[in-house]
Amino acid sequence: VSPRPAKPAWIRVRAPGSAAHAETARIVRQHGLHTVCEEAGCPNIGECWAKRHATFMIMGDTCTRACAFCNVRTGMPRPLDPGEPARVAQAAKELGLTHIVVTSVDRDDLADGGSAHFARVIDALRASSPSTTVEVLTPDFLRKAGALETVLAARPDVFNHNLETVPRLYLSIRPGARYFHSLRLLQRAKEIDGRLFTKSGIMVGLGEAREEVMQVMDDMRSAGVDFLTIGQYLQPSPRHAAVQRFVPPAEFEALRQIAVAKGFALVAASPLTRSSYHAGDDFAKLQAA
Ligand code: SF4
Ligand code: SF4
Repeated sequence: VSPRPAKPAWIRVRAPGSAAHAETARIVRQHGLHTVCEEAGCPNIGECWAKRHATFMIMGDTCTRACAFCNVRTGMPRPLDPGEPARVAQAAKELGLTHIVVTSVDRDDLADGGSAHFARVIDALRASSPSTTVEVLTPDFLRKAGALETVLAARPDVFNHNLETVPRLYLSIRPGARYFHSLRLLQRAKEIDGRLFTKSGIMVGLGEAREEVMQVMDDMRSAGVDFLTIGQYLQPSPRHAAVQRFVPPAEFEALRQIAVAKGFALVAASPLTRSSYHAGDDFAKLQAA
């Protein structure tokens, strides 16, 4: 159990409570869906749900991994729900999403890592909302040959896979994953489909050094990653990894400027940046540019 230091003044979140927030919650519940907004205890839920933005977490609410930063429960997941792709598509339509981010728990228990289910969700979204852009934030598909190809064959607009932290901290923070495997996954995604945008993100405040963050940025650029997100790690509970440092907003801005100079096409870096935070707005701006 780790102590939880007080949050600094710049970590301010908007409390849920708007009518639009309640409507987003109603649509999510009505279709029996899970969101990473709720499961991860995302601090932006008051803001995002008031704008009818939700990020769906498919394949259940139980993960086969146990990352030290993550609030999602660990255990043996249930079998896949074949009705889920259609319900995700219907919910996205009712929310009026112009850009949807779909993520999932890790399904190491499934032979294909859940990749075919991801593809079915993309297909259902294309059929019901053809003009909606689709971003998938996938597991690492470690030891799941062919899984990446299966997801990409469904032609998402953005392929996102988070490196989460610097390689030195993987053993303690992301013990089931391998840094260079995740990096290679991003690189292969670009090799398989050169028109695809690739995206990744890290959290800061876990004890990483600045030079290590620079190295991760360089690794990502070498792997052809287009978009980068950097946010402050917040400890979900005393059972999770402790926050080592609250990074001030000015440092995030400095990281953003460095990342832009390194060639990322889109960079979001702020204390409350999360993978899916403003993802649609930023992507739309890039497409319009
Ligand atoms: Fe949900 Fe992403 Fe917004 Fe968090 S930032 S509330 S996960 S849409
Ligand atoms: Fe959480 Fe993803 Fe790690 Fe599972 S694999 S514990 S959902 S971060």
